Amino acid sequence: METAAETTEAVQAVIVAIDGPSGTGKSSTSKAVAAQLGLSYLDTGAQYRAITWWMVNNGIDIEDPSAIASAAGKPEIVSGTDPAAPTIVVDGTDVAQPIRTPEVTSKVSAVSAVPEVRTRITELQRAIAAAAPGGIVVEGRDIGTTVLPDADLKIFLTASPEARAARRSSEMKSADVQATREALIKRDTADSSRKTSPLAKAGDAVEVDTTELTLQQVIECVVTLVEEKRAAK
Ligand code: C5P
Repeated sequence: METAAETTEAVQAVIVAIDGPSGTGKSSTSKAVAAQLGLSYLDTGAQYRAITWWMVNNGIDIEDPSAIASAAGKPEIVSGTDPAAPTIVVDGTDVAQPIRTPEVTSKVSAVSAVPEVRTRITELQRAIAAAAPGGIVVEGRDIGTTVLPDADLKIFLTASPEARAARRSSEMKSADVQATREALIKRDTADSSRKTSPLAKAGDAVEVDTTELTLQQVIECVVTLVEEKRAAK
């Protein structure tokens, strides 16, 4: 017989996929929504950055997809899913800082386009989502289309390139909005045009244009959508 606790957990368990390009407020929104609703949180971009960091550190030629493919299974990547303090560890090293360097950022699209890398990381993501008590918010580029096509709720965040560049430059404390805009568009183009699970909106995703919204408004909008899904479960 089901206990009361199990019943509550079954009602509340919800899987939320949040996709979209860089600078749309994906990470801040996903973390806040997860924290507010007591869900776990997974930053899949951090996993792709972590495997890229490992490739760079181990002298793998980023221009050579077959070298990347051969090495894809080697690093051990562990993600901590507490939205208040998410962590990312590669072979026992905390890489939260080094995965955010311009070098890793400029190389991550090439590494994440390699099918063997995607297969490896997708398996990790599915295992983490399946093991999350009560549910999880997973943010990325292909979560609603490929990683978790049966997610309870799929959100696709967008914003104008100008708004995205302005947000990214203020996050990075960089004054050069134009250079940030160009780098961001280059990365989005690479992510959207790759053959294997490109950045794309799932057919059943709710699109939220964040250009004119504050972060708080986006969070409230997504929390409401999750609560509606939970109530309907
Ligand atoms: O989200 P973030 O900007 O940290 O993602 C870094 C990169 O990781 C993206 O530009 C993309 O190349 C890759 N990525 C991906 N699929 C995901 C999440 C991120 O290919 N689900």
